[in-house]
Amino acid sequence: MLAGITRLFVTVLLSAVCLGALTGSVRPDKLEQIRMHGEIVMVTRNSPTTYFEDRSGAAGYEYELAQAFADYLGVSLTVKVADNLNDIFSTLETGEAAFAAAGLTQTPERERWVRFSLPYMQVTEQVVYRRGSLKPEQIADLASGQLVVSSGSSHSEHLRQFQAAHPELTWSESSEFEVSDLLQMVASGSIDYTVIDSNEFEVLQAYFPTLAIAFDLSGSENIGWAFSHSRDDSLHQAANEFFAAQKDSALMAGLSERYYGHLNELDYVGARRFLRQTGKKLDTYKPHFQEAADKNGFDWRLLAAVGYQESHWNPTARSFTGVRGLMMLTRNTARELGIRNRLDAKQSIMGGAQYLSKLRERLAAENVQEPDRTWMALASYNVGYGHLRDARKITELTGGNPDLWMDVKESLPLLSQKRYYRYTRHGYARGQEPVDYVQNIRRYYDVLVWNEEQNHNFIDDGQELQLSSAMVTVIPPLL
Ligand code: GLU
Repeated sequence: MLAGITRLFVTVLLSAVCLGALTGSVRPDKLEQIRMHGEIVMVTRNSPTTYFEDRSGAAGYEYELAQAFADYLGVSLTVKVADNLNDIFSTLETGEAAFAAAGLTQTPERERWVRFSLPYMQVTEQVVYRRGSLKPEQIADLASGQLVVSSGSSHSEHLRQFQAAHPELTWSESSEFEVSDLLQMVASGSIDYTVIDSNEFEVLQAYFPTLAIAFDLSGSENIGWAFSHSRDDSLHQAANEFFAAQKDSALMAGLSERYYGHLNELDYVGARRFLRQTGKKLDTYKPHFQEAADKNGFDWRLLAAVGYQESHWNPTARSFTGVRGLMMLTRNTARELGIRNRLDAKQSIMGGAQYLSKLRERLAAENVQEPDRTWMALASYNVGYGHLRDARKITELTGGNPDLWMDVKESLPLLSQKRYYRYTRHGYARGQEPVDYVQNIRRYYDVLVWNEEQNHNFIDDGQELQLSSAMVTVIPPLL
């Protein structure tokens, strides 16, 4: 009996030693611990390019990417939102978060403290100024105004490097402001310049039409996730494997499409006019948009965005082709929908919503999923369902996926080329138009959602942000 127990004990001991020898240690590594816990914690910051709440809950490029990583590991994702960049790094250091996914630039200084994953995006750092003010052309010109950047940012690190060659260079840093706040301060004139990553400017430009890029502060920079610099590299390795596997994947293409795909250059005059009109004029029609949205299962802001794209919310608008009213219905469509007076804003909005809803149902019947279904319904609202179908056919024939807007929008413009349209059922169409149309609507829609849900009305002068000296650290010249 005793011999049996001793044998068992020796066997257990031996297996533990062998396991230890195999894994290097009996203690589970970081990756194993996370798997055992069934949870991974990420730290991020709240911005339109990283993480934010939208109508359907948590969203954002970084958030969705991190969610996919959590799925890959088979664990759930918990999000911690840090107030500023410095907090992101301290959260990482204390181990409260396993990694940081916050649009972080891989810089030499940071690499001394953290480990970066493989990059998944490239950006350029850009100096932003207000149109109509003196445009700085190079670093030396920044002396003519007040420059504020986020403390702890890659922008600040770059400015410090430039100071060696430009000892007169001076600027202020603050951890109180998000990039959108800094842009707002440039727009309102309370500061003169800031620095922003190109991807963030692309997204935020629509809210600040008076701002423009003065010059690039950096070349192409890598954005990646940051991990603490411990000896245990297991999680970092897993993230790199994940990114290597995702290179050129449908996930990455889908994320780029969702967050950056609709960002064309909104023209300056157009964007300004839109922001101006989101006040009083929109208020007039808002109840109609809301009613039509409720009846037809839309977000009212999407319908409002369509109405703006169609007529700039003008109930008596008309085009030379005979479409009329706020939602620009054709005579036939109006008749089919039982709309008696196309020039009545309420009727027009209801008619437009019904029509859009019908288009969406047709696409649902063909198994197109959301949000692609809505984007394609909008494209058909503009160009007609037949042409959209033709474009989906072309997509299929050229090896794309006809159920994805991302692929169909590449085929639509081909409808104006004879070598394509001659083989289609509905023939020629100005196929670029519905693509621009959908992009504009998505852009207007984003602005309306952002204004309302973030409670950030960027044009509300009453809420203008002011910079006080308590909020900034002045970086003096090296002279
Ligand atoms: N990529 C920048 C960084 O890593 C973002 C800074 C910011 O937008 O505040 O510092």
